[in-house]
Amino acid sequence: MPGYNTHRIFNYSAFIVIAVLLYLWKFQRIDLYSFLAFSAGYYLGTDFITPDLDIESKAIKRWGPLKILWLPYMWIFHHGQSSHNLISGTIVRILYISLIILGIYYVLFRSLPSGMIFSYIYVYIFIIGIVIANALHVILDALF
Ligand SMILES: [Zn+2]
Repeated sequence: MPGYNTHRIFNYSAFIVIAVLLYLWKFQRIDLYSFLAFSAGYYLGTDFITPDLDIESKAIKRWGPLKILWLPYMWIFHHGQSSHNLISGTIVRILYISLIILGIYYVLFRSLPSGMIFSYIYVYIFIIGIVIANALHVILDALF
């Protein structure tokens, strides 16, 4: 399977292609905030929230001391199996880290966030960025 840096080079090369295609086709209809939301999701999906969080990978080391958050995930999911499912693997990771973040928020503030800081559309675009970055990871794994 390709290493962490191979995945990064592949994903960022694909990102350049995606950005050029967006520019050539209909970038006028995509506002800057949507592009930034997509880029942020794509970056997280490439460098931090990757399918390889199911093993002692470079991705999990990048979390530093916060890698402890991913230990239960690593124990539950065996490497290269459901965590590497094209769609559900990503959805499970997003739900997993979202529940932890909400849990920490609740412990700190004794309540859940009352509303969204960002518009829902940017949250969806952000998640699409993570999903596409993770899908490219799984596709590259399948090819090599
Ligand atoms: Zn992988």
